[in-house]
Amino acid sequence: MKNLFDLTGKVAIVVGGSRGLGRGMAVGLANAGASVVIASRGLETLEVAAKEISEETGGICIPMQLDVTSLSAIHEFVAQVDQKFGHIDILINSAGINIRKSALDFQEEDWDRVTNVQLKYVFFMNQAVGNYMIKHSIKGRIINIGSLSSMIGLKNMVAYCASKGGIVQMTKALANEWASYGICVNAIGPGYYFTEMTKPLLSDPEVMRKYQEKIPMGRLGRPEDLASTAVYLSCDASAYVTGQIVYVDGGWLIN
Ligand code: NAP
Repeated sequence: MKNLFDLTGKVAIVVGGSRGLGRGMAVGLANAGASVVIASRGLETLEVAAKEISEETGGICIPMQLDVTSLSAIHEFVAQVDQKFGHIDILINSAGINIRKSALDFQEEDWDRVTNVQLKYVFFMNQAVGNYMIKHSIKGRIINIGSLSSMIGLKNMVAYCASKGGIVQMTKALANEWASYGICVNAIGPGYYFTEMTKPLLSDPEVMRKYQEKIPMGRLGRPEDLASTAVYLSCDASAYVTGQIVYVDGGWLIN
């Protein structure tokens, strides 16, 4: 019987795959058999991560530098992946930044920096790869990364919350437009995970204690917790799932 979770022969891009949640999902896809391109700005971290992922999984993981906030860089990147592999089957958008400050102090450049990475250029990555998939008749998978703040309004991160709310609606709109091409567009909403992004917050033992108390499962998420959801939304087992956001949060949103 065919293994519906097998990604052998598929080519996956993970933007923001050099560390944190993107890296965890890249490991999951490589373990499931996909050839994975991880992309971000910092080449050194990318190269180390790609080498480690290849060694750890026995699969193919290659680094490609990309600053996602440039439309021309996005188009060049997609062309380079096509040139190297001849097809693109899976896209995960896990690049992210956050600026924590009160809404009253938020400057125009803060708003632009956060929403550019977290929403505007996520759309343009979707558009570039969606176009590519449609042109090449590939029934591909796109996964965007939401957050608890796709659902709830957290303090001191207004642009982040606005972006993550937008991710949900953008994902649904694209899922609707591209369903007839066989392209599934979904989102994952992680709860709290200890990464570079959340380190400033979660390094405070009092915050950590409060969050662990609030999470029904009693612990933060680990990057590898997302790997199985990413594989599911990338493989044949989820062929009839589109426009959804799957929260992987240890139960945070139950309460
Ligand atoms: P992270 O550890 O800081 O990783 C962020 C990744 O994005 C890095 O690979 C970074 O590499 C890349 N990146 C940032 N700006 C970029 C740009 N302009 N172009 C290309 N790549 C860029 O953060 P994370 O916690 O893994 O977050 C990943 C995603 O999950 C984000 O969308 C975040 O909002 C979301 N999320 C995180 C949590 C959490 O608890 N950690 C919870 C919910 C949602 P370079 O800096 O080298 O470019």
